[in-house]
Amino acid sequence: MSTETSLVLFKPDAVTKDLLGPVLARFQAAGFQIRAIKMMRLDEAILRDHYAHLTEMPFFPSIVEFMQLAPVVAVALEGENAIAAIRDLLGPTDSQAAAPGTIRGDYGVDKMVNVCHASDSVDAAEVELQRFFKPDELFAI
Ligand code: ADP
Repeated sequence: MSTETSLVLFKPDAVTKDLLGPVLARFQAAGFQIRAIKMMRLDEAILRDHYAHLTEMPFFPSIVEFMQLAPVVAVALEGENAIAAIRDLLGPTDSQAAAPGTIRGDYGVDKMVNVCHASDSVDAAEVELQRFFKPDELFAI
């Protein structure tokens, strides 16, 4: 077990459906602590960086459009095994395939509209935390 920090993005569907409170409560109930939080609009440049592994996919323009429908909320969540544990709480990318009781299973719509992003490795988290937060926006409480 190791203490890790994951970058979680509450996507526009979560923000417009008022899911920030209930979903954040699930992460906190599971023992994860907020180290940074910020509401922001994402421009195409940051989306191209964040979804660099998908820019050649036919659905990439739809992702850009979806991610710009409303502001997102970026949160740094710290705790034991945060990377894997938070992705387990989320469920798989496709909300339709996500089990009831997972966040995407309970609140997601489909493969794209799926409530939250969460870092998929310790290395990715390091890059993503720097992408969304300046060093003085992360708090060790
Ligand atoms: P995850 O967010 O679960 O780590 P990926 O990194 O594969 O998944 O994809 C990033 C995001 O791109 C997904 O969360 C989803 O919003 C969108 N996406 C992925 N695959 C598809 C798809 N086949 N069709 C539409 N959107 C997709």
